[in-house]
Amino acid sequence: MSVSFPHLGYKRLSRAIFEWQAADRTALLAVFILMEVFLHWLWCAFVWWYQDALGAYVYIHLLYPLWFGITVMGVFFWGIARHLSHLKRQTTAIKNKNLNKWQLLLVVPYTFYIATVIIMVGYSSLFAGVSLVGGAMLGMMLIKRRYAWRVFLLQIALILLAILAPYFGIHLPNLRQLTFVYPFLDSQNYLTYNELMAIENTLATSVFKGVTLDWSSISELQRSSTFFWRATHVLLALPKAIFIVYMFRTLLLILDDSKNEILKHANQDELTQLKNRRYGLTQMKQALKELQDGQDFSVILLDLDWFKDINDTYGHEVGDQVLFEVAQTLTQALTDAAIVSRYGGEEFLIVLPATSHDGAMLIAEQLRKDISKHIIKVDDNEAFSVTASLGLYTFTHEQSVCMKQARTEQLQLEAALQPAPAGKPRHHRSALPPEYQTLLPPDICQRLICTADKALYEAKDRGRDQVVSANHMFVSENSRHVMLCGI
Ligand code: GH3
Ligand code: MG
Ligand code: MG
Repeated sequence: MSVSFPHLGYKRLSRAIFEWQAADRTALLAVFILMEVFLHWLWCAFVWWYQDALGAYVYIHLLYPLWFGITVMGVFFWGIARHLSHLKRQTTAIKNKNLNKWQLLLVVPYTFYIATVIIMVGYSSLFAGVSLVGGAMLGMMLIKRRYAWRVFLLQIALILLAILAPYFGIHLPNLRQLTFVYPFLDSQNYLTYNELMAIENTLATSVFKGVTLDWSSISELQRSSTFFWRATHVLLALPKAIFIVYMFRTLLLILDDSKNEILKHANQDELTQLKNRRYGLTQMKQALKELQDGQDFSVILLDLDWFKDINDTYGHEVGDQVLFEVAQTLTQALTDAAIVSRYGGEEFLIVLPATSHDGAMLIAEQLRKDISKHIIKVDDNEAFSVTASLGLYTFTHEQSVCMKQARTEQLQLEAALQPAPAGKPRHHRSALPPEYQTLLPPDICQRLICTADKALYEAKDRGRDQVVSANHMFVSENSRHVMLCGI
């Protein structure tokens, strides 16, 4: 099978999320944070390099403390990432004791750091949104979910504070030089030239401190916005957004896979790889529901002969090997329509929907022969074979009709005896919902299996390695009717 690049990423991530220990995952988050801080650092370097061109929009004097701060935080996060990789090598007890502290030391400063960067680089809603939502999502995957949730709330609080600060006269530092948005472009038609100029001059003196606002200033403003939009949205927010969405896509794929895996384990018998008892019964119930008029339904219960002796002679492991090989023999011999499950220790349930008694007898006999012919090799010198006894029961379509009728009559009687709800007329006997007319008793599966089990015990009694039909057994005893087990 060819392994593609996304496939590799998917495998690695699934390992990180589900198999790695908490310290490994925290270290991974530290590396992600470090990468993000490095991206911010590169952005500062870019602005500094092009300061001649960007000086009109960026307050370069504020860039230096920001750049310095980013560098310090980069070193800090690098230290934490290094410490976490040391922590990975410690024993689990010490590791777990320290890990909470290190997780907090990683995410709390990061929250303050990212809030500061967002505020200083210019209130970009995309940058803020990606950091807020994406950071929390990443945190939930890699560290204690409680911590991720709390720092998410902390970040919301910091952003709200930044929004409210100007109303309390606190002006937070902002790299963006020209933050003015010209508000009158749409309404200038309704203002006289003098009114417009008066407003512009007032704004110019208050906002631009001595600079006259004219159309070139407005286009400067637009260019500044464009620069900040590109810088913060495209360079800072988008890589993070792409990365986080990729992580989540992968996580969902992993969850789909694990769901399938869990379902498989919930329905499968681990040793024989057949359906387990619960799933076999569920499928049998479903097959009975889907049974068409005029179709018979056969059930075989198969039990290995003297299996305890095999365990005692060759050991439990060889016993397991026998169970696996018998299961293989059964699956190879039967078609997909048959429902084969491991019913108990060395007992298998084979359900043959839409199969007549004669057809089922042929199949059962074939299975018995296949099992007895199959050679089980213990090692190069030792080999043996096993035999099985099979009890068969065919639930004929005539019986099915009788049973459905009896059930319908019973339900009608129950309905007639129940007091009618106040204000509503009592249902007439024939007014039962249509699905009731075709219903088999709820314990039908157990009754069919129990009847096949009686035939199986008869097969054991008659000397094993044979098939006995409950239909034959009970017909000969009671002349006409096959007596179903009534549990
Ligand atoms: P009979 O012909 O009457 O069926 O005799 P038996 O020895 O097969 O019947 P019994 O019920 O006395 O023994 C069944 C044995 O199957 C007992 C138990 O230890 C063994 N067994 C049940 N489950 C497993 C399993 O998963 N692996 C192995 N190796 N043995 C199992
Ligand atoms: Mg047995
Ligand atoms: Mg048994």
